[in-house]
Amino acid sequence: MLYGEKNKAKFHKTRRLVIGIGQKKHELEIPKYRLRKMSMSADTAKGLIESLLLDEGNSRQNMATFCQTHMEHQATELMAETLDKNAIDKSEYPQTAELENRCVNILADLWNVSLKEEYLGTSTVGSSEACMLAGMAMKFRWRNQARELGIDVDTLKPRPNLVISSAYQVCWEKFCVYWDVELRTVPVTKDKLTLDLDHVMEYVDDHTIGIVGIQGTTYSGEYDDIKGLNELLSKYNREHEDRPQLVIHVDAACGGMLTPFIEPEMRWDFRLSNVVSISTSGHKYGLTYPGVGWIVWRDRKYLPKELIFEVSYLGGEMPTMAINFSRSASQIVGQYYNFLRLGWDGYMLTHLKTTENAGLIGKAIKESGLFDMYNEGSRTPIVCYTLKENAKYSDGTPVVWNLYDLSDRLQMHGWQVPAYPLPEGAKEVTVQRIVCRADLTSALTEAFINDFEQCLNDLKEAHVLCNEKKSGRYGFTY
Ligand SMILES: *Cc1c(COP(=O)(O)O)cnc(C)c1O
Repeated sequence: MLYGEKNKAKFHKTRRLVIGIGQKKHELEIPKYRLRKMSMSADTAKGLIESLLLDEGNSRQNMATFCQTHMEHQATELMAETLDKNAIDKSEYPQTAELENRCVNILADLWNVSLKEEYLGTSTVGSSEACMLAGMAMKFRWRNQARELGIDVDTLKPRPNLVISSAYQVCWEKFCVYWDVELRTVPVTKDKLTLDLDHVMEYVDDHTIGIVGIQGTTYSGEYDDIKGLNELLSKYNREHEDRPQLVIHVDAACGGMLTPFIEPEMRWDFRLSNVVSISTSGHKYGLTYPGVGWIVWRDRKYLPKELIFEVSYLGGEMPTMAINFSRSASQIVGQYYNFLRLGWDGYMLTHLKTTENAGLIGKAIKESGLFDMYNEGSRTPIVCYTLKENAKYSDGTPVVWNLYDLSDRLQMHGWQVPAYPLPEGAKEVTVQRIVCRADLTSALTEAFINDFEQCLNDLKEAHVLCNEKKSGRYGFTY
């Protein structure tokens, strides 16, 4: 959100607050949009802010977000203790840098990097920054290669392009706008919400900097067929030696720390020869509070030198690649805590439990008979569905409400479940999506299912509906 002008009218509003009782009573004036002249006590300030934040939704009932909403208190304490450490200051905090180094190596290993190559990686603020870095590396690498092949890269048209399914996360649109790359989207269809391998190669030419495969789309949590895509690219690269080599970046914001534990045999990662970089969000299934992300390149040749900057490190220099400079290292510490605390088994069991809970929710929703399922939560812990055309309750009562009404009903029970239209190619379909996370306990799962069924019953009897004409995005949280 960008804030500005519209707050002008409210500029002079102040809040009067009476503190204390009897003789000790005094009034505090607190301007909202100007700095208050006087200081106040730490306790008063903390209390005021706490009460201000009180009526926000309960994050653990937020089924819209992929982001971690609960960590163990030991992790929280550790993160609070390390808030002061600056992640960029490798010289002052060499041990923190070492933890980051360990995390990168752990991830590279989880993603089956080849030890014959020189992999490189870094932490980021989240997948968005990681995807920016991946995109920049692809753009610079493409340009260097295209120049060598005698392709004109210095005229403004055509611009370099990036190919991705229309179910992309908004960070890719940002990348393309910010770095002046043409975003070429392969439309999904209402029957298939992932990258269309029958048509993807039609979008490719000698100005393509790369193709992005999504390991868990934001819309439905389904996986692109990256193995199939890899085969198409191998064939293309063999047949077009006069063109820059086509490469894949895998946006594994959602699946990067999920798939290796629950489907370790699935090939989507560095085992595929054309996958040159992978990014993920530590704050999604990496189980760390926001914001931390990660990116690894399979070999330094995919990360052009122009993009690397040196920072001082124990009297020497250390290569870095980042858009930001200073930020707290506490999320990196939190990520390492999870790796250390959970180990491989802990991650696997946590994710299996979450997927089991998602499966229960998916099953209950499917069994209501009112919905067509896109994702039943059995593979990724994400449940996604649309209302059947001419849906009828089991007693024959027709459904007259829509998914936005159901979202409103669920909200009455405290559950935040977004409804939104599908992307380009399937825009006419509205879906609802439930993201299950590790902090959704069995008890909460049961409570959710009961509330969901109650909502379906309530809507059957309801006379007033509010969202009949509503269209466009609504309550959609990336
Ligand atoms: C969440 C998400 C992102 C953005 O990740 P952040 O960590 O929130 O910056 C990018 N791509 C996909 C597929 C996502 O699900």
